[in-house]
Amino acid sequence: MRPFLLVLSSPSGGGKTTIARSLLQARDDLGYSVSATTRPVRDGERDGVDYHFLARDEFLRRVEAGDFIEWATYAGNLYGTLRSEIDALFSQGRTAVLDVEIEGARQIRASFPNSLHLFVLPPSAEVLVDRLAGRNTESPAIVRERMTHAADELAAVAEYDYAIFNEDLDLAVAEVAAILDAEARRVNRQEGLTPFIARLRRDVIAAASRIAVSP
Ligand code: 5GP
Repeated sequence: MRPFLLVLSSPSGGGKTTIARSLLQARDDLGYSVSATTRPVRDGERDGVDYHFLARDEFLRRVEAGDFIEWATYAGNLYGTLRSEIDALFSQGRTAVLDVEIEGARQIRASFPNSLHLFVLPPSAEVLVDRLAGRNTESPAIVRERMTHAADELAAVAEYDYAIFNEDLDLAVAEVAAILDAEARRVNRQEGLTPFIARLRRDVIAAASRIAVSP
């Protein structure tokens, strides 16, 4: 399959990161694009693994240098996808999994029309609150801000190719895997298709000419 960008969006707490992790563990045709951000490191996060944590100045310098394929502001912090991450994954023949909010997803759609956009939906508001509060990494004020933001983000679902209900993690991961397998069969995603068809047509014509036809 020709590698492409797989964009996962959801409101914060919607579960896209968990889905992405499970998928990446299960499939080696995928690789995670580690984003850059100016937000503070949370407990347990590792620089270069969860994010590339950058100072604001450095982030903006890299914006100027054209290092990002997209970037956006979310809750006062800057987030962006580094071109170098995508180049590295594509050179390994892997599809890049991106965890981005909706503004970044719009930018990607505009510059990569071949990208695939999935929106992960929480089953209910209660689940969203529980997941956000359960992280214990954010203050109640931030949880409230993210919940308010979630209401706006949910309205963007119509811009996406697929909506995944994340009630049962295993089921959600299986659905995304099924979508990927179907997408791999799209004519424009099949790398060897053009030379294969050229060969096949030649062979078909040759085989046809060998068929003896009685006068
Ligand atoms: P968090 O701070 O919870 O890790 O992420 C906050 C939001 O930023 C999430 O909606 C996440 O999808 C988004 N985000 C993470 N990385 C990127 C990125 O590279 N670009 C954009 N536009 N959003 C990102």
